[in-house]
Amino acid sequence: MIETRLSNEPRKPARPKHRVRVLRVRIKNKHAEALDEMARAVNLCWNYCNELSLKILEREQRFVKASELQRYMAGASKEGLPVGSAVFQQVAEEFVTRRAQHRKRRLAWRVSRGSRRSLGWIPFKARSLTYRAGQIQFQGQMLGIWDSWGMGEVELGAGCISQDARGRWYLNVTVKLPALPAKPPTLSAPVGIDLGLKDLAALSDGRKIEAQRFYRDLEPALATAQRAGKRARVRAIHAKIANRRKDFLHQFSSQLVREHGCIVVGDVNAQALAQGPHAKSVLDAGWSTLRTMLKYKSDDAAVWFLETSESHTTRTCSHCGERTGPSGVEGLAVRRWACAHCGWAHDRDVNAARNILKRGLLQLEQQFSSALEAKACERAVNEAGAKASAGAGHGPLAAGIPRL
Ligand SMILES: [Zn+2]
Repeated sequence: MIETRLSNEPRKPARPKHRVRVLRVRIKNKHAEALDEMARAVNLCWNYCNELSLKILEREQRFVKASELQRYMAGASKEGLPVGSAVFQQVAEEFVTRRAQHRKRRLAWRVSRGSRRSLGWIPFKARSLTYRAGQIQFQGQMLGIWDSWGMGEVELGAGCISQDARGRWYLNVTVKLPALPAKPPTLSAPVGIDLGLKDLAALSDGRKIEAQRFYRDLEPALATAQRAGKRARVRAIHAKIANRRKDFLHQFSSQLVREHGCIVVGDVNAQALAQGPHAKSVLDAGWSTLRTMLKYKSDDAAVWFLETSESHTTRTCSHCGERTGPSGVEGLAVRRWACAHCGWAHDRDVNAARNILKRGLLQLEQQFSSALEAKACERAVNEAGAKASAGAGHGPLAAGIPRL
């Protein structure tokens, strides 16, 4: 069977048997030393993969495979290192994945000591952890954790142990949770969202969510700490900013999914904007994180989630459809305007959110009708015996693995 997937296809609420999620729990501080030691062994192994991979590339003009790296490291676990093959194998796999992702001949070295030290990272394969009474058994160590999830209840998959900028250690592990009871998808209370900088979001129902200035609010404190050379304080403030932002986005996205049966977001390109003059505000707003959260929470709750083109959503009057709104650089300052054609008074961002919602609903409608055509087309192709490769999706698994 081939998979017919159109480029702008809305995400249909999925109802799989289970959901894969990443749990993140804090590991008690008393294990920091043991974990530091394991992380050094991981760095050693990573750098070994890096060096070997480059050598083989130069000598044989080919990229070494993960299975080969794993064979080379087969004896390493007997060398008295604090981690064993379950970790080494995962490091080799991650190395090969990242090398392909970044299309590099060689990746960055992992540094174990000094001021440019890499944050600790210890990946592991599925079934290399066991949970027992509030503790995790891992590589011969019993690690105490602050278990707020009830980890004894779920099957623990692959993941990693990672360190944050403050030196705290966390266990990130994938788990399979039972699917939520199926509920028929409805289009009740559909909402359009215009993502912005001054306001994080304007909703089509007129509400506005003020941008939380996570960064700017703490900027003076950060600058003071930087000038004074207090590195620990700088790290603590950065972690605080990240936590605050994430908490807020979690609350906001959960509320949206609870209140609406269909959510449409503009496809604003955060990556492109993050290189422009508003870079700090763009990163501050956390659009990408918000969209990711909305996507998976919508899937869980059987809510429709769509991304749609943002072009001309500001200029177009959401009441009559004429392009009478503000445009160009001068137009950026205009917050309120009245349509010259129909006279309707608009708030700039709420009007954009309304246009986004309209477009999303139209897209959904077209999708429903083209789904029938696509089905017929798919049948014809399959009957002709043609082979086509299905597009590879990426599941939520990748979300929990931190970037190096
Ligand atoms: Zn109008």
